[in-house]
Amino acid sequence: MDKQPSCQNCDSPRRPVKARGLCSVCLSWQRRIDRYSRKLERAKNDPGKYYIKNDAQSLPLRIDIAKRVLKEFRWREDGLRTNSTDDWHVEALVNILAQVSLSNFPCNINRLIQRMSPQSRRLIYEVLLAVVENIPTRDPIINDGWGRWFHDRTFSQEHWEQVKAGRALEKAYLESPQAKALQDLMRKKVQTHLPQSSIPN
Ligand SMILES: [Zn+2]
Repeated sequence: MDKQPSCQNCDSPRRPVKARGLCSVCLSWQRRIDRYSRKLERAKNDPGKYYIKNDAQSLPLRIDIAKRVLKEFRWREDGLRTNSTDDWHVEALVNILAQVSLSNFPCNINRLIQRMSPQSRRLIYEVLLAVVENIPTRDPIINDGWGRWFHDRTFSQEHWEQVKAGRALEKAYLESPQAKALQDLMRKKVQTHLPQSSIPN
């Protein structure tokens, strides 16, 4: 029998490929990346019209988050790929569950996991993953934590390139006819509400 094609991102044997070579979970995040990228491109091409409308300053971060989520789905499947899940995969899921239940990561967990047979580690990983995958959060919780990811991203060269590009885009918007018209309108509104004596000649 022919082997069913697996998702080109996570390579999961658990979810059938839905479209574009991706499973339903990966496809929805890839579509977000595509949508945000199109919006950003539109804002770059016509900042006057789309900079505010598309919330262009937030888009690079939203694209990066979606890319990190896709990477997380690959990481999760890595733990299922062999008959011997490594310690870190199991520990990371225990840590996520401890966080969401406002508990603590038990100090003897590493020792207990190391005492498990490879098959036990693989099984407990699959059980914990089924729970972690269904935690109702807006973005999936990642194995090394979003806080650490944000910190690393903030100090990365790529982020600073994005900051520079964001400033250039903001400048292009402020110099656009639409932004200037809005500034004029705001100025007129302020002047109509100010006492005549306070408006400079
Ligand atoms: Zn997938």
